[in-house]
Amino acid sequence: MPASIPGPRVLVRLGKVGKFYGERPVLRGIEAEVRAAEVMLVVGKNGAGKSTLLRIMAGLARPEPGQVEHFAEPGQAAFLGHRPFVYPRLTADANLAFWSRMHGRNLDRQARMALLERVGLADFADEPAGVFSRGMTQRLDLARVFAQAPGLLFLDEPASGLDMASAALLRREIAALRSAGAGVVMVSHDVAGDLPLADRVLHLAGTRAVFCGPAREFDAGAFGAAGAC
Ligand code: ADP
Repeated sequence: MPASIPGPRVLVRLGKVGKFYGERPVLRGIEAEVRAAEVMLVVGKNGAGKSTLLRIMAGLARPEPGQVEHFAEPGQAAFLGHRPFVYPRLTADANLAFWSRMHGRNLDRQARMALLERVGLADFADEPAGVFSRGMTQRLDLARVFAQAPGLLFLDEPASGLDMASAALLRREIAALRSAGAGVVMVSHDVAGDLPLADRVLHLAGTRAVFCGPAREFDAGAFGAAGAC
């Protein structure tokens, strides 16, 4: 008998997930697994259902029909969407203090400053977040997510509003989280830029997953090929 090889740890499993808005189907029959220490890229045109799928994966929206099973520890998941979770009246540092307390980490000032340094906001630590530009707010929102040290991370177009240096930093941070064992699902609008970071790709078109499989097999020119995710 061959020794059984343990498979990758599944954090989220989607079973025949669908979604309707009113009478209109947006997603149909999506089957996928989010695994620890992997980055899954969700790609597709505007309106393909990427954000909807991400919210369903994160447990923020219900599939209709279908099932979503979650296997991550409670409190391990972090979500970064289009609207930043940033309190405008609090300073950047106070935002991080709040979020780290919320997640039971209680980072001290030194650790918070190190985090703000990583996202290029150390010089603005004591400024109210309400005066920040869109890109700065986005970077603070990223710091908020990193402060949680999540084991499961959902990112909806996290590079939008970021300059190239910040987008590169974001990719490095995501790679570091994956190396630490986190599962990451990222909706991307820069497929060419994000593909090297991805382990798996889920491509949505016409309400279906037209590709769901290893990133190395994803061919942007052959969208019709179905895969198993
Ligand atoms: P993507 O992220 O790929 O751009 P979305 O998941 O945001 O796509 O949206 C998929 C489709 O569902 C779009 O046509 C959008 O207009 C529609 N949609 C999204 N959210 C809602 C909602 N709350 N109510 C009705 N329609 C929605």
